[in-house]
Amino acid sequence: MSLEAARAGDRKVVTAFIGVGANLGFARDAVLNALADLSRLPMTDFVASSSLYRSAPVEGDGPDYINAVAEITTQQSAHELLLALQALETKYGRVRTTRNAPRTLDLDLLLYGDGILKTPDLTVPHPRIAERAFVLMPLMELAGSISIPGHGRADVLVERITGQEIERLES
Ligand code: AMP
Repeated sequence: MSLEAARAGDRKVVTAFIGVGANLGFARDAVLNALADLSRLPMTDFVASSSLYRSAPVEGDGPDYINAVAEITTQQSAHELLLALQALETKYGRVRTTRNAPRTLDLDLLLYGDGILKTPDLTVPHPRIAERAFVLMPLMELAGSISIPGHGRADVLVERITGQEIERLES
């Protein structure tokens, strides 16, 4: 969106999906609290959240993760959302060390409408969306056979994934 359009209040409403995960400290509380925080983002309405899932770390180590996906509608741009998500990660004590290191809270912008974005700090759809059961399974709970731009249908992609340990938690 141009600055002029934003100033004129001419913002589009976009449906976005956010991946939420944590595997350090009180991971379940962090995920639930982060979902509540997402519902309070400016210019944003919370639509739904998936069940919680427990998953083993993929290409990483440490305790199992608690994961969920949230669906929102928002007038924030994708970059504004990224900054908001990073601010929340910091609030929850996230320390950035190595790639895939354990974390108190990880928030990923999975999908932003049907947009495809590739900038130095933001790639949408999220770069690893098609390879992660802990993203696709909760996402499919919210959006069934949603099509992921550039990748294809979530229900087809999830069938290709092998060797990732995941279970849906009873609420
Ligand atoms: P992670 O360790 O998974 O939290 O990755 C964080 C880094 O990924 C940050 O430097 C972000 O700028 C970058 N990034 C790129 N695309 C995305 C996205 N769709 N959602 C969240 N972070 C992203």
